Amino acid sequence: MKTLLIKNARNIITMDEQRRQFPGGSMYVEGQEIKAIGVDLPYEAADEVIDARGKIIFPGLINTHHHLYQTFTRNIPWAQDCELFDWLLTLYDIWHHLRPEDVYLSAKVGLGELLKSGCTTASDHFYVFPNGVSGELLDEEIRAASELGIRFFPTRGSMSLGRSQGGLPPDEVVQTEKTILQDTMRVIETYHDASKFSMTRVGVAPCSPFSVSRDLLRESAALARSYDVRLHTHLAETKDEEDFCLEKYGMRPLQLMEETGWVGNDVWFAHGIWFNDEEIIKMGSCGCGVAHCPSSNMKLSSGTFPIMKMLENGVKVGLGVDGSASNDASSMLLELKVMNLLHKLQHGSTALSAEDCLHIATRGSAKVLGWDDAIGSLEVGKAADLFMIDSKRLEFAGALFDDAALPIITGTSQVDMTIVGGKVVVKEGRLVNTDEGMLAEKAQMAANRLVEVASRHTKVNYRKIRARENSAGAWKYLK
Ligand SMILES: [Zn+2]
Repeated sequence: MKTLLIKNARNIITMDEQRRQFPGGSMYVEGQEIKAIGVDLPYEAADEVIDARGKIIFPGLINTHHHLYQTFTRNIPWAQDCELFDWLLTLYDIWHHLRPEDVYLSAKVGLGELLKSGCTTASDHFYVFPNGVSGELLDEEIRAASELGIRFFPTRGSMSLGRSQGGLPPDEVVQTEKTILQDTMRVIETYHDASKFSMTRVGVAPCSPFSVSRDLLRESAALARSYDVRLHTHLAETKDEEDFCLEKYGMRPLQLMEETGWVGNDVWFAHGIWFNDEEIIKMGSCGCGVAHCPSSNMKLSSGTFPIMKMLENGVKVGLGVDGSASNDASSMLLELKVMNLLHKLQHGSTALSAEDCLHIATRGSAKVLGWDDAIGSLEVGKAADLFMIDSKRLEFAGALFDDAALPIITGTSQVDMTIVGGKVVVKEGRLVNTDEGMLAEKAQMAANRLVEVASRHTKVNYRKIRARENSAGAWKYLK
């Protein structure tokens, strides 16, 4: 088994139970697994030796919610100033033209950005399967992840409630429930690996209460449990979603979930902004997790995640960047800074420290994904999933007083090295397993095609800024 020795680090931030740090520390790895960590280790040689002088080592960040395909619809002027439902209605019309190659390339870009920002395990929620396109789209992103070397947790999303049946998405991007369930079984059987240091685990993820039927929710939960895989969906993201559920089903979103088998230790929701106090207590007692996505919630004016109430009541909380079109980046480090600032503003200056944020994005996220036996901290028996930053960079000069908080407080968005399962996948800030320049060029060409085809189809110029005649915004004063 290949061995790796990382030695002489300026500091190792372990995020173990005691949040120990090892200034001058080393780490010895066999295969994927950390065999020793600390100072004065009795190891001097290994198949690969990395001298980490001046570097601060952190446990790899874990992203609990994303839509990688949205990487191709970032910074679309037409979709910049909307709330969720309007934003979705605009973008469904573009996403409806996605091809398998777009799914592969956009995933590769998004996952590449994640690796470069210290993320070592990424979840993804893929739910757009346009009519007339080969349905094997999850396979495309799994291929991209395995080429880059990131630990991956794709979830097979779905939409079955088209506009003609009272749902939000156009009929062109929904599938029949039979097709959805069959393909979900196929991807679980083909790719899900439940082993401790697995590189791919698959989850089941109907998109949201306003885009799937009650039957599909029920059947998806039963299917996931028959395979012992996790369940994921959007919930309590906006007030509009709550109004939709009250009107269509006569119940609040969490009630709908309870009624369809969607509560339990194996479930995590994205967002969770609009739960009331009673629901938060229930979430804590039933073991549900939440992926907190601060940038997206701020961008779409969805609301502020009640993080203190969630933590107080024992709800598992992890961090997510959310889809690239509502962020519009896939930087986990940047997301940490946004989370830190948002909750200082909302809950007071002492509520959530930078190190607490790091805890949520590592140990917290690992718990949300049910993977905390293997990832989320640097300790013996866990995976060698980590990132390093070089303390000698200009942006850190004058700031070297708290190593654990350094990248969050200063707001750096890129790391110097990322290692997943003992393998170096980012070196000197660049992806090791792909040509970034070529990837960026190919991806932008494909994104251009996607937006142009959609523009021709809908006669909307998505590059144009939306007309604002009735806007209450600042534009009219800025003349
Ligand atoms: Zn989302």
